[in-house]
Amino acid sequence: MMETTGNIVAKTLPALPGVSPEILSAWLAEQGEPAFRAKQILEWVWKKKAASFDAMTNLPATLREKLAASYRLSALTHTKTQGSADTTRKFLFRLHDGRYIESVLIPANPALYGEKSDRRTLCVSSQVGCAYGCKFCASGLAGYTRNLDAAEIAGQVLEAEIISGERVDNLVFMGMGEPMANFNNLMDAIALITGSETLHLGARHLTISTSGLAPQIRKLADHPQQIRLAISFHGATDEVRDRIMPVNKKYPVAELMDALAHWNSSKKQKLTLEYILIKGVNDDLNQATILARHARSIGAKVNLIPYNTVEGLEWERPALSHCRAFQDVLKNAGVTATLRIEKGHDIDAACGQLRLKQETAEGIV
Ligand code: SAH
Ligand code: SF4
Repeated sequence: MMETTGNIVAKTLPALPGVSPEILSAWLAEQGEPAFRAKQILEWVWKKKAASFDAMTNLPATLREKLAASYRLSALTHTKTQGSADTTRKFLFRLHDGRYIESVLIPANPALYGEKSDRRTLCVSSQVGCAYGCKFCASGLAGYTRNLDAAEIAGQVLEAEIISGERVDNLVFMGMGEPMANFNNLMDAIALITGSETLHLGARHLTISTSGLAPQIRKLADHPQQIRLAISFHGATDEVRDRIMPVNKKYPVAELMDALAHWNSSKKQKLTLEYILIKGVNDDLNQATILARHARSIGAKVNLIPYNTVEGLEWERPALSHCRAFQDVLKNAGVTATLRIEKGHDIDAACGQLRLKQETAEGIV
């Protein structure tokens, strides 16, 4: 990894929250250090959340120096928080190359919006920008910059726990980027997030959201961990989906449904179909009827989300009464359908919006 600092090109050290226990053990062996040090270091990083190498007081000073010369302690610099402790909070992080990503922490029992819950959910980013260019999405607007590495993905959870002082119970890959297009780094990050020596969050508490990359859905279906899957559907027919989601040209509805049927053959958890309601674009009740058919064929539940306004886009959300009518069509067809009154509208929680503002202010985009 190379990083430009003014005119100097400096080598960037790997960040410890991306290093697996196996790689760390191999590194320690190379250094002639005893094997039991791995457990201690992992504990300092993931459980005690050490603020510096110097804070790792049960390691000899020579090892702390070697660690500092070989690794960064964190992949992310926290630069801003929007929101307050009892509402949805959005964290902005700066990366080693000057780019920004964001994570959104949705608290237990949110005071203002939505259903009551005793779990804290973190929404994480998987890429800087997104190459998939969905017409309604702030992340798609600025285009794609790069994949996040495992430390930058898993590090968001670690940093959120450090900043909030609370444990994250649930994780959703619904921030910036298409996680399935960054498959290998995503899976490395998930190994760190779920590993007993690292973050140790149960796979059942992780949900990956995808715009519909059929081959990767099949690949994840064959993965042994019971990770949950949500699909950004947003159009029940090729005609509507083609217009707002370019990915549909590559993997049309029939192919997507096929991959989801394969998912069902190897996973126990119910699939979720996400459906943003955009006035006059995809909210025809006929779409609801066809969506209900798709949902029933794969036993999926449907999450309806009124469109969140994005700066620079003219679209609007339908009236609440129309959203309810759309929901009723699904319910009457026997499909579990929730209407999500979104959280954090007031703090730019739609994916990619805070980062876009920051990068625009700095002239990066
Ligand atoms: N790329 C993945 C995950 C990130 S997007 C995916 O598309 O699933 C996370 C969710 O935010 C998706 O369901 C996406 O459709 C939704 N989203 C994007 N822009 C939105 C907007 N303007 N209003 C409401 N939801 C939006
Ligand atoms: Fe990318 Fe998902 Fe946004 Fe589409 S909705 S542009 S896939 S982040």
